[in-house]
Amino acid sequence: MIEEHVKLVLAKKVDVVKLTKEVLAIVKKLDKEYKVYAEISEDLALSQARALAKNPKGRFAGVFVSVKDGICVEDVQSRASSKILEGYKPPFSATAVQNLIEEGAIIIGKTVQDEFGFGGFCTNVGLGFDIPLNPLDKTRSVGGSSGGSAAITALASFPHIALGESTGGSIVNPASFCGVIGLCPTYGRVSRYGLIDYANSLDKIGPIAKNAKDAALALEVISGYDKKDSTSSKEKVPIYSNLKKDVTGLRVGIIKEAFGDDVSKVVKDSINKKIDELKKLGAKVEVVSLKKNIEYGIPAYYILATSEASTNLAKYCGMRYGATEKLEGSFNEYFSNIRSKNFGEEAKRRIILGTFARTSGYRDAYYIKAMKVRTIIIEEYKKAFEKYDVLISPTTPMTSPKFSEISKMTPLQHYMADVLTVGPNLAGLPHINIPIKTKDMPVGLMGISNHFEEGVLLSLAEVLTK
Ligand code: GLN
Repeated sequence: MIEEHVKLVLAKKVDVVKLTKEVLAIVKKLDKEYKVYAEISEDLALSQARALAKNPKGRFAGVFVSVKDGICVEDVQSRASSKILEGYKPPFSATAVQNLIEEGAIIIGKTVQDEFGFGGFCTNVGLGFDIPLNPLDKTRSVGGSSGGSAAITALASFPHIALGESTGGSIVNPASFCGVIGLCPTYGRVSRYGLIDYANSLDKIGPIAKNAKDAALALEVISGYDKKDSTSSKEKVPIYSNLKKDVTGLRVGIIKEAFGDDVSKVVKDSINKKIDELKKLGAKVEVVSLKKNIEYGIPAYYILATSEASTNLAKYCGMRYGATEKLEGSFNEYFSNIRSKNFGEEAKRRIILGTFARTSGYRDAYYIKAMKVRTIIIEEYKKAFEKYDVLISPTTPMTSPKFSEISKMTPLQHYMADVLTVGPNLAGLPHINIPIKTKDMPVGLMGISNHFEEGVLLSLAEVLTK
C-alpha cells in the first residue's frame, strides 16, 4: 500500500536515496528477466530521490512510478516502443506524469508496449524491442498494449504504480493477463497532453496498481482539467480513495452476449463465482443485453482507430522526430524509405487500413458509417445506465495465451481479443479490470460505469478483491 509508505517518507523515516538505489537494482534485474522496460530512467530517479530527501513533500512522496513508453517524460527517451522514434527525448513531461512528479513521485522508467499501442498481446513491439514475458509464466503474453506497465506492477515488491494508456482496451487487457488492477478513466478525465497519440478521440491515460486504493490515489493525482488539452474535462475530481466497502443495493447488469462460446470455461466460471458473491453481498444483479455493442464494436473500432492512427503517424517522416537519414532524393522517396525501415509490420498494416478507410470514395462506406455505429453503441450504453450502476463482463475472452498460440493467430483473431473492451472505449466510459486468482493464470472481471463514475468501479474492485 502506498499510503503508509508516503506517511513514512514525509516523516523522514525512510532513506529515500538508499531505497531508490535498491529499487533501481531490483528493476534492472527484473528487466533482464522479463523485458518490461524500454528505458530505465536511473539519473532522473536518483535526482528526484535526492530532492525529496532534502524536502519531503507531496501525496506521492517516494512512490515509484513506471510510465508507458508512449507517455512523454522530459529528457527521457520516449518512443512508444517504435524504432521510428529512436533517440526522441521530449522537452516536456505529459501532464499526468508532471502531476505525479509534483506530488513527490519517483519516475523509474518507460515500459515497453505494442508499437504506438497497436496490439493486445505486447507482441507487436517495434523493431529492436524485446517482447515482455508474463510474470506468472514466461511462455505467456503480458497482454497489451500497456503490457510492460502491467507486468512491472505485478512484479513490484516496492511501493509502485504504473501509468498505462488505452485506446481500445490497453489498460484492462494487460491488467487482466498479469492479475492486477487497471483503471481506464472516462475520456477527458485525465489530460492527454504529452501522450503520443494513437487515436485522439479514443486515447485515455490511467493507472495500473496492485490494489484498488493505490489506483484510486493515483487517479486523484492525474485527473483534472488541463488548459493544454482542450478535451480534458472541468468536472470536479472526487476523493476516489474514499472507497465504499458496501455493495448493498448496487444495480449490476451482467452483459448477456459477453458469455458466448468463444469465452473460455475458466473465465466464465470465475466470473460467475464473483457474481454469486455480489448477490450474497446484497447487490441487485440482472442480465442485460448489449447486442449491438458486441456485434459491431470491433469493426467500428478498427475503422475509427486506424483512420485516426494513420493521420497521427503521418508526422513521422524522418524530418522532425526520431529516426532520420541524410536528405537524399525527393521528399516522397525520403519519407517512404524512413517509414519502410522503421515502422513495424502492424503499424504499416494500420496505416494502410486507416488511409484506405478515409480515402474519398470509400469514406462514406467505412469511416462515416463507423462513426454512425459508434453513436448507436453509445446510445445502447446510455439506455443500460438508466437501469444499472455498473455493467459486468469478462475483460478478455481468455486468460493469457502462450506465445506459441499467438504466433498462429491471424490479424483478425488478434483484433477479436478486444471484443469485450472496445465498447466502453468507443463510448468513452470508465472501466476497470478486477483480477481473480485461479490455480492457473488470472482471470479478469471488467466493470464498466457511467461517465465520471470511476468511484463505483474502484469500490467494486475493493469489495471483490478482499
Ligand atoms: N488492442 C487494441 C488495438 O490494437 C487496443 C489497443 C489500445 O488500447 N492501445 O487497437
